[in-house]
Amino acid sequence: MLRDTVRSLAEAKIEPFAAAVDEEARFPQEALDALVASDLHAVHVPEAYGGAGADALATVIVIEEIARVCASSSLIPAVNKLGSLPLVLSASEELKAKYLTPLARGEAMFSYCLSEPEAGSDAAGMKTRAVRDGDSYVLNGVKRWITNAGVSEYYTVMAVTDPEKRSKGISAFVVEKSDEGVSFGAPEKKLGIKGSPTREVYLDNVRVPADRMIGAEGTGFATAMKTLDHTRITIAAQALGIAQGALDYAKGYVRERKQFGKPVADFQGVQFMLADMAMKIEAARQLTYAAAAKSERVAAGGADADLTFQGAAAKCFASDVAMEATTDAVQLLGGYGYTRDYPVERMMRDAKITQIYEGTNQVQRIVMARNLP
Ligand SMILES: Cc1cc2nc3c(=O)[nH]c(=O)nc-3n(C[C@H](O)[C@H](O)[C@H](O)COP(=O)(O)OP(=O)(O)OC[C@H]3O[C@@H](n4cnc5c(N)ncnc54)[C@H](O)[C@@H]3O)c2cc1C
Repeated sequence: MLRDTVRSLAEAKIEPFAAAVDEEARFPQEALDALVASDLHAVHVPEAYGGAGADALATVIVIEEIARVCASSSLIPAVNKLGSLPLVLSASEELKAKYLTPLARGEAMFSYCLSEPEAGSDAAGMKTRAVRDGDSYVLNGVKRWITNAGVSEYYTVMAVTDPEKRSKGISAFVVEKSDEGVSFGAPEKKLGIKGSPTREVYLDNVRVPADRMIGAEGTGFATAMKTLDHTRITIAAQALGIAQGALDYAKGYVRERKQFGKPVADFQGVQFMLADMAMKIEAARQLTYAAAAKSERVAAGGADADLTFQGAAAKCFASDVAMEATTDAVQLLGGYGYTRDYPVERMMRDAKITQIYEGTNQVQRIVMARNLP
């Protein structure tokens, strides 16, 4: 029922704008409005804070169905979860109530600020500093590649509070867009997900009250990594949706397109490509849903030592499948697939990012190797 609801909404209210959002590299405001109106913009927020209280699997299905028509728009629910999950996992009740409630109401979005110009895969090498000063902390530094920066009202920022302790000297804070000293770089000019603004976030003597720290001092990096265990599964869902969108489009096209006097779908070479795409997408789906079930068990307080492996495996596998399936979809449309008159070239460009963010697929393989089941 949830899938049908999201699919209808996505096809009616998001898909019609997907090509323009990409072409004009503009934020998909129509998608945000439609998602907020249907309470699908941040479904993971617990009911206690006015949210829909969707479990991890339901959240994955929402993201998958939106990504099937517009990957940029799927980053609205996905990054709202990424930015706010550190609070759900580790913040005080006061902080949760203060920030999750406006998120649930659709009044504010959340971004997640871990990466820096010199600290990507090696995120613990970050330089952004937070120095205690009386009842507050003063933050200075540059966060890079921040999804939805400028649009989001709230930012979960990881910063060094004790440079001697490397990852154990990092703490997490909520920073508001309106805090004095917060500003943004120019939007990056990207290959894909052009509708999702990616900008630097500059922190210039930003003073935040000490009670905006998420969890205890020195726990920020652990919280950031725990968050990724859950949210890599939402990137897997995004990849899955992009791949399914490409397969669905190609499937329709090959039935219509005639060469040698018959639909190209009648050629076995074409049928085998479609069969491989569908087989790999289904494998990615099962891995992603199984990981989501584990994520939900852990979020509900259960122990599951496999979550780190499963989250990395789902993200890595689904994103590789998305890249392959979208490239094959372009192939199946022939020369037409290579043009912007058809959506599959956008899907191919959008798929690429799923192999890079929330840890590159090389990093996912490091994570899996360290956590072999
Ligand atoms: C569009 C976009 C949106 C993003 N959104 C966010 C966001 O909202 N918040 C946020 O905090 N970050 C975000 N990121 C950052 C993203 O997570 C990083 O780009 C990513 O983690 C890689 O870091 P890097 O770009 O510095 O690459 P590098 O770490 O410099 O890596 C370069 C290459 O070296 C490889 N490599 C590095 N170390 C190893 C190793 N040990 N073994 C093998 N290979 C290795 C990498 O896999 C990669 O191929 C975003 C990035 C992009 C492009």
